[in-house]
Amino acid sequence: MSTSAQIGVTGLAVMGRNLARNFARNGYAVAVHNRTVGRTKALMEEFGHEGEFVAAETAKDFVAALERPRRLVIMVKAGEPTDAVIEEFAPLLEPGDMIIDGGNAHFADTRRRERALREQGIHFVGTGVSGGEEGALHGPSIMPGGSAESYDSLGPMLEKISAKAKDGTPCVTHVGPDGAGHFVKMVHNGIEYADMQLIGEAYQLLRDVAGYSPAQIADIFRTWNTGRLDSYLIEITAEVLSHVDAATGKPFVDVVQDQAEQKGTGRWTVQIALDLGVPVSGIAEAVFARSLSGHADLRAASRGLAGPKAKKLSESEAAAFADKVEQALYASKIVSYTQGFHEIAAGSDEYDWNIDLGSVAAIWRGGCIIRAAFLDRIRAAYDARPDLPSLLSDDTFAQEIADAQDDWREVLVAATRQGVPTPGFSAALAYYDALRAERLPAALTQGQRDFFGAHTYRRTDREGSFHTLWGGDR
Ligand code: NAP
Repeated sequence: MSTSAQIGVTGLAVMGRNLARNFARNGYAVAVHNRTVGRTKALMEEFGHEGEFVAAETAKDFVAALERPRRLVIMVKAGEPTDAVIEEFAPLLEPGDMIIDGGNAHFADTRRRERALREQGIHFVGTGVSGGEEGALHGPSIMPGGSAESYDSLGPMLEKISAKAKDGTPCVTHVGPDGAGHFVKMVHNGIEYADMQLIGEAYQLLRDVAGYSPAQIADIFRTWNTGRLDSYLIEITAEVLSHVDAATGKPFVDVVQDQAEQKGTGRWTVQIALDLGVPVSGIAEAVFARSLSGHADLRAASRGLAGPKAKKLSESEAAAFADKVEQALYASKIVSYTQGFHEIAAGSDEYDWNIDLGSVAAIWRGGCIIRAAFLDRIRAAYDARPDLPSLLSDDTFAQEIADAQDDWREVLVAATRQGVPTPGFSAALAYYDALRAERLPAALTQGQRDFFGAHTYRRTDREGSFHTLWGGDR
């Protein structure tokens, strides 16, 4: 076996196969390997002509095919399969070699693996890859962690195969050490959950309150996509809503079971936010909304519960309402990104990653599922003020929310009156109002805690901890 390949990919399901093809199309010699040899053969038969591939049937041949220092990309199922692959390959590697895990690993696993492999002198580069199979082939957004040294060697290759933002900048940066890349990918996915939930709520309001058909709502989304909501998710939402089911002639969205599934990265985002004490209520509501949708029995048992029936609006009222929904969606989106970036900042502090939030926004501008014009503005906000306490502290975003808030509140009044669930919009507004509140009922909570548990409280007018001797025989 020749030692000619500049990079190797093991795990040739949709993601790995397309990533390998992307490297090859960009002029790199790529060694390819898969546990089940059939996938390797299929890749060579179908796509072998696209570039220089070296097919390896065994782990030994695969490693032997790589030039040194070796760059070995793992694209297999996250969790135990990733550990199994590392165990198989690590003994065959030498100090200075790199293992790049492009799967959706939990960042804590990445930290553990990085530590263990570092002892062997191997660079373990936990790398977030977003963009699905199309992104993997045509240019994903790439979020590598690991050592700065490994990025020196890998960075130019990743920059070549990555998506490019509209200004031509590659959508990849060295996010930070050890698990930083997978952490940022996790929060990316959490934000993706929130974006999708907010879009879903906008759709439901336009359908149930404004009375628009899916095809009409598709047109509304197309219009929104030419403005500040310009994004991949809004674009594909219009496509999905205008799609007609061939078998029934009905709107596609009406023949799909309304039970959303999830693979886990949204849940991780919320679990880690709880550990870090970061309020990501919008992302949490999105995860819970998917979970609630899946409780078919509970929903069936609750269908008879009392509530208002949504009343449809007149044509002119509907058009005015749609404009307000756009405001509510935009304002809520600002809040979910505020929460997501807060979580990244908190993770960066906790693990000493020194993550540049502006760079994170920059690499999400292309290739990934949440790509949006909006991210350019987030990048600009953090570039102008890297220590920005929150996106809501940026004058432009603060002004936009100020301008949107009346409509946002009106939409929520309509949703509440008419019984349309809007957990994402509502949580976003509650977060906003809580942040701007002069006083929160947390003072009362502290009083209660001191009453039943002598937990003490701090006062507004004096330093120190206080406990009140409450009445009764407690
Ligand atoms: P997948 O269905 O998650 O995994 C299938 C691949 O894993 C196959 O190559 C399979 O090999 C291999 N595998 C499973 N268990 C293994 C084991 N014990 N030892 C060795 N290999 C094992 O594939 P995918 O959808 O292409 O995703 C790959 C990774 O990218 C995952 O971590 C996924 O979460 C992540 N990701 C996916 C997307 C997406 O849109 N699909 C986007 C971003 C990231 P065999 O062929 O031998 O079974």
